[in-house]
Amino acid sequence: CGIIGVVGNSQAVPHLMDALRRLEYRGYDSAGVATLVDGRIDRRRAQGKLINLDKRLQEEPLSGSTGIGHTRWATHGAPVERNAHPHATDRVAIVHNGIIENYQTLKAELEKKQHRFDSQTDTEVVVRLVDDLLQQGMKPREAASAALKRLEGAFALVMLFQGEDDLLVAARHGPPLAVGYGDGEMYVASDAIALANLTNKISYLHDGDWVEVTKSGAIVHHGPHDEEIVRPVYQTSVS
Ligand code: GLU
Repeated sequence: CGIIGVVGNSQAVPHLMDALRRLEYRGYDSAGVATLVDGRIDRRRAQGKLINLDKRLQEEPLSGSTGIGHTRWATHGAPVERNAHPHATDRVAIVHNGIIENYQTLKAELEKKQHRFDSQTDTEVVVRLVDDLLQQGMKPREAASAALKRLEGAFALVMLFQGEDDLLVAARHGPPLAVGYGDGEMYVASDAIALANLTNKISYLHDGDWVEVTKSGAIVHHGPHDEEIVRPVYQTSVS
């Protein structure tokens, strides 16, 4: 329901939590964050309000300068911690807005390949699919692109990869996604309001776009051959 990602040069969690608070107006039933800690994916999740996630993070802090966060409005799977985003394997963590319509087909296919699922969400098929492609030897960008071509439905996604602290991949197929340009940091969010504290330089993904976000900028791709395309950057007055 609410999505945020940071490729940063400072602690990610305070940015992620600030952005999630700004998205609270959308309503949600659980929340979570994931970061890279020495290159490895780690995460904290909690059912209910952001205050519960705050408490989890106080008990067990999460360092790292690159990360993703999510507030969930459950569509597939009960609103419990196990179904809260980010969903993750050792190789990839993902936050998702919307619905993957063909998740049952993909799930059956992945289960045949011995992938085991931890949640009841539609989202987890994306995680297992990307993980499968990474296991086959694809690089993160390649695996993300190949996985996106298999997904049906209305979704916005952000992916974080093991060992890649200068990369997030985000995709828009329906629900909006904004890319924020910071000072040596870059952001992605479901709503420019989420980024109000971080930057006022924003570009918007168009439907069907996917983007590689690194500290130094964003490369947007569109179409069956992932052609590079430039989207305008706007100066916002949101505060
Ligand atoms: N369909 C996903 C789920 O139920 C995402 C829901 C959302 O947009 O928050 O977990």
